[in-house]
Amino acid sequence: AKSNGRSNFQFYTQNLDVEAKRRTTIEEELRHAIERDELYLYYQPQISLVDNQMSSIEALLRWKNPRLAMLAPDEFIALADETGLIVPIGSWVLEQACRQLRYWQQANHPELRIAVNVSSRQLEEPDFVNTVDRILRQCGVGPRYVEFEITERLLMKDNLKNNAVLRALKERGIQVSVDDFGTGFSSLSYLKHFPVDALKIDKLFIKCLPNDEHDAAIASAIIGMAHSLNLKVVAEGVETVEQRDFLRDLGCNYGQGYFFSEPVPPEKII
Ligand code: C2E
Ligand code: CA
Ligand code: CA
Ligand code: CA
Repeated sequence: AKSNGRSNFQFYTQNLDVEAKRRTTIEEELRHAIERDELYLYYQPQISLVDNQMSSIEALLRWKNPRLAMLAPDEFIALADETGLIVPIGSWVLEQACRQLRYWQQANHPELRIAVNVSSRQLEEPDFVNTVDRILRQCGVGPRYVEFEITERLLMKDNLKNNAVLRALKERGIQVSVDDFGTGFSSLSYLKHFPVDALKIDKLFIKCLPNDEHDAAIASAIIGMAHSLNLKVVAEGVETVEQRDFLRDLGCNYGQGYFFSEPVPPEKII
């Protein structure tokens, strides 16, 4: 048993080693991803459940690196977050997405909006708001056509600085949605203190609709609460017509998911 324990231990440390090396490699590669032109955006529409119109489009980051297998965004974005690389990458995403939006607006969709994921690391940068102003100005995009998706975690810290940043965004007309709503909270009190415009119900709660009674109750409660707080609701991960109909009947404002479209390259959007 003793030798067995020892070899388990060696196996374990070896795995840690492999894992640590992989992380270092990814980090090193990610550091050069912008200049090497390896990042690009996919786009996924958000559809109004009232009139089936495309109301906005979420930009989703992709990374293709010749020396690494295609990495899932969840994986490299978590690493970008930990290392702070998400700050320059996030600026790149915003600029890219705004340029694309400007193109769509000029080519026939003047009221289309863009939704961009913003990590707490970015929002907590001292010059975040200035960076946003500069990028929007350079791209010729009006702030009211921009939505930021932030996570609950950011709002959990009852933080005056974050609150001031969100107010500055709101003053400009930028909308803010709470992403992955329902997965991270222990209290809803933050909804009272922070100026947000919409909640995005996490796809976890949508997946088993309409048959799962618990999920149906949760979706219905979130939509009811959001509306009494004057917030819009977006359901993500809508994959079937039954889910779409069910959410529409509950009064959910917008849907996003494979039922409408997978994330696609920009030329496939319109
Ligand atoms: P998210 O913001 O919650 O984005 C929704 C995820 O669900 C996307 O995964 C999307 O491809 C996927 N999805 C869309 N429709 C469906 C559906 O009907 N069914 C299922 N099962 N999944 C669906 P993706 O593109 O892999 O992105 C993962 C996460 O990475 C995002 O989750 C977001 O948190 C983060 N992310 C992506 N781009 C950026 C970015 O530019 N900046 C930051 N900070 N985070 C980003
Ligand atoms: Ca999102
Ligand atoms: Ca989400
Ligand atoms: Ca997510």
